[in-house]
Amino acid sequence: MGRQDVTLSDMAAYLSNETPSKKKNFGYTTFTRIREVCRGLSSIKDAPLHKIKIVEQEGKLAILVQAIEDGPEAVYTESHVKKLQLLLKKEVNTGILHRFITQKPVKSQVVQVVLQHPQSNSFVRNGGQMSFSAHKIVHKARLNMLVCNANTWDPASTKKCRRCGAKETQMHILQVCNYNKSGLITERHNAVHNKVSELIEKGSKRNWELQDDLVIPGPSVKRPDIMLKSPDGKEIILADVTCPYEYLKGIQRAWDHKVDKYTKAYKYLEARGIKVTVLPIVVGSLGTWWKPSTNSLLQLGIDRKTINEWIPKLCAATAEYSKNIYWRHIKGDRYQSIPMKFGLDKPPGNSWKRGKRRKPPKPAKN
Ligand SMILES: [Zn+2]
Repeated sequence: MGRQDVTLSDMAAYLSNETPSKKKNFGYTTFTRIREVCRGLSSIKDAPLHKIKIVEQEGKLAILVQAIEDGPEAVYTESHVKKLQLLLKKEVNTGILHRFITQKPVKSQVVQVVLQHPQSNSFVRNGGQMSFSAHKIVHKARLNMLVCNANTWDPASTKKCRRCGAKETQMHILQVCNYNKSGLITERHNAVHNKVSELIEKGSKRNWELQDDLVIPGPSVKRPDIMLKSPDGKEIILADVTCPYEYLKGIQRAWDHKVDKYTKAYKYLEARGIKVTVLPIVVGSLGTWWKPSTNSLLQLGIDRKTINEWIPKLCAATAEYSKNIYWRHIKGDRYQSIPMKFGLDKPPGNSWKRGKRRKPPKPAKN
């Protein structure tokens, strides 16, 4: 057998694991590492990418990536070197997301709601307007892994609420339990409500008459959070804020319930020739935006740019409050509230910041 020169396609086949090789003969080199990376990213079980291999392109080696089985193939050559890391990361992201959403959909109820709106997750990648302490709670909570009595597997330990005796689920702590109901749970609702009112006053319907928490004179005693009356008095918009727990049916039910409640209650206004619109604003308690709420804000006269800017902030604020609700529930009287930077209740100025330590004055020069 004569000697043969190695061609580029031989090299490509070797680096992509297509040529069998004896590891012993090569040891652990940069080339064997490339083989391992290709295998780890595409051929082993649960690998993120559908295909990644080294190919020959115009007389040089290049990387071919196909993130999803039916997706497009991308070839990265020398010209991509500067951005290669970024580009490959993007491909892996696409692959992982595809599996997460389409191939093996997540069963968590909360995640299904989160997926409805991309803004609900914007803080995950960039940190967002959310404190570290809220991050610590929110990610666990969205996977139903918060420490609480109902989440224990031990059949012998109690599942009862440490404050009221009902079953202590995450939902119970964050939405229902009387321990926080009139305090922090109401504050969470009010934080969103106040912010929305504030935005309306700066929006295109600022000349409308805005009333908060008012019983409209008439046979109904239902109190919508926000009432907007047009200058000519012929149109009334009722808006109501709610922060339900995130599961698809529940969040949709919360929405329908709001519409139903106020439409029925203010039917008599329509009989008088006044147009009544009911607009629910729904923000999930673990920081998710319920998509139709965007339309509600638009109809309240807030422009799209402001809305897009405020969605992540409103989501973050509800998450901050939910974090406080959880800790107050667990810690009870030992719970101490601290000023929230991202909770929409930031006091004016810099007074909320921890006092800066001052340097001791320099000794005077003689
Ligand atoms: Zn309870």
